[in-house]
Order: sequence, then C-alpha cells, then structure tokens
Amino acid sequence: MSFTYLRPLPTPDEIKTEYPLSERLTAIKRERDAQISNIITGKDGRFLVIIGPCSADSEDPVCEYVSRLAKVQEKVKDSLILIPRIYTNKPRTTGEGYKGIASQPDPEKAPDMIAGLISMRKMQLRAIAESELTPADEMLYPENWEYIRDLLSYVAIGARSVEDQQHRLTASGFDVASGMKNPTSGDFSVMLNSVYAAQHPHRFTFRGYEVDTSGNKLTHVILRGAVSKHGNTVQNYHYEDIMRLIDMYDRMELVNPAAIIDANHSNSGKRYEEQVRIVKELMHNRQISPDIRSMVKGVMIESYLEPGCQKIGEHVYGKSITDPCLGWEESEQLIYDIAETC
Ligand code: PEP
Ligand code: MN
Repeated sequence: MSFTYLRPLPTPDEIKTEYPLSERLTAIKRERDAQISNIITGKDGRFLVIIGPCSADSEDPVCEYVSRLAKVQEKVKDSLILIPRIYTNKPRTTGEGYKGIASQPDPEKAPDMIAGLISMRKMQLRAIAESELTPADEMLYPENWEYIRDLLSYVAIGARSVEDQQHRLTASGFDVASGMKNPTSGDFSVMLNSVYAAQHPHRFTFRGYEVDTSGNKLTHVILRGAVSKHGNTVQNYHYEDIMRLIDMYDRMELVNPAAIIDANHSNSGKRYEEQVRIVKELMHNRQISPDIRSMVKGVMIESYLEPGCQKIGEHVYGKSITDPCLGWEESEQLIYDIAETC
C-alpha cells in the first residue's frame, strides 16, 4: 500500500492563462464581491440567497439554471443578491464513488484530475459569462482555491471540514465572504473557533510553499443542522438556536458576526420540499427579532431544474445526483417570497 505519483498537474497560472476571465467580467466580480462584503459587514441591508444544485455535475443544466437565476436577480435586485451554488467538489456523503466534476468530469467514467480542473473552471467561466452572476463553491480540497479564486464570490467550508486545520488556515487567505458550517455534531463552539482561526493571519505550508495569510474578516457561520448520536437530524434554524448563536458570538472576539441558514441538509433532513417552510419560518423570525434580523444575513437553498434527486445512470436533465433539491418553479417563487419579507 502506497501512493503512486501519476503525473504533475498544470499550475493554476497555466490553467488561468488558457481559460481566463475577461476584464469586463472581472470588474463585475469585483463589484459583486464588494456588495456581498457590505452585506456581511452590515453596510448594505440586502439579503443573500446562495442557491443552486448540491453538486454542479454537468455544464449544460448548471448553466441553464444559473441563466434562469440571472433573470430573477434582475427583478429582486433592490432586496436580494443571488449567489449561484456551483459546487465542483461535491462527493457523495460516504465519500465513495463520485467526487464532483473537479475530479471526475464524467460521473460515469474514471476520475481524471487534469480534465477535472479544466472542467471545473470552464463550467464556472461559462456560467459567469452567461449570467454575470459570480458563484459560490465549497473548498473541499483547499489546494483547488488557486485554480478558481478569481471566479468565486463566496466560499463555504463544509460540515466535515470545519474542524480541519488546513481548511481553517486556507480560509484565512480567502479574499471573499466565507461561511464556516457547523460540524455534523452540531457544536457551535467548534464552528466559532473555526471562524476565529480564519479571521486571523497565519504562516503555514500551502501548495509546496511557505505562505503568510492576512486573515479573512468576512468569515462567518452557516447553520446546517446536526446529527444526534442516534443518527437523528437535529435542526438549528429555529428562533432559540439563533438566539443561542448570538449569545455565543457575543462572548467571542469576532468581527462581522453573521449567519447564513442552510435550509437543506440536517435542517430539512434532506426532505428538500421542507426548505420552503424553513426559509419562511426564518423570515418570520427576522421580522419579529431585530437581533435575528441583524445576525442572519442570508440563506442557502439546494435547488435545481428538477425536484428531488436521481441515481447516476438515470440521466434526467437538471436533476441532482447528490442531495435532493427543490425544483425550479418552487425555487423561483420562494425567491420572490424572500424578497417580499426580508
Ligand atoms: C452541501 O453543501 O452540499 C453539503 C453537503 O454541506 P455539508 O457540509 O453541510 O454537509
Ligand atoms: Mn448538499
């Protein structure tokens, strides 16, 4: 048993030179990053909606989804910023099999890391070009950051990664809003410690270099529900959960306190259609509590063209191959409802 070193990868600069983001789109990204930053720091009262498939497994349906989102963004721009989830690293929950387009551009063929890096970047570039919406991704493999750092407007650190040192240190060098998810155990202190680590500067090794980071003051939390020791889901989007979060945030030296509520995963128990009710409960709580209103700055929703999910091999266009998603019609309506109540 050992590693077999197959071949070196192209550098981020090589891939970026071959697949660049135009100057016009770079300016659009800069503008969106500033707006998102202003929402996180409280200077802009609009609300974030991070929405899209669990896993961006295929370029055509993902780009179609994001283009539909762009039309909705135009209608709700006074109250919402929509950030498409274009998650290129999303594996199946057990980690076995499919590991996302970044490692496996075709879910039915063998992994291919070089083709994966190119597919990941090409899909995000095309989605941005067609929609002018810069995306969110999860940095499951922190080293991938350099291949798409000029494209992303939001980065999540997942529930299974938030306790990991390399993820925390890498997040301290991101220059965009970054959400630390609560771990699957549900412990808020692990999540807040992770925010603390990412908000501070670090020296460490990254991509074969000794590096310094500045600390990322836009790091905040994402509540995604938890799993109990008996394997049951435990929600954490209710009024009492957010009040407890506010109390714990107050007792730590963190800047820009902010929370995004993930309506799927262990908050919905992956009953994807419950996301509508969960988001509406949250919007109600924001209306009755000024503290919750200023703490909760957005939602995360898993949504795709078709509702539910399918197994690999079924080939339904625009239907999730990982977690089940809300379908397009319900998602669009939910965005309008959020815009009216935020
Ligand atoms: C996801 O965002 O699709 C996901 C699986 O998140 P988590 O890390 O919360 O499980
Ligand atoms: Mn998911």
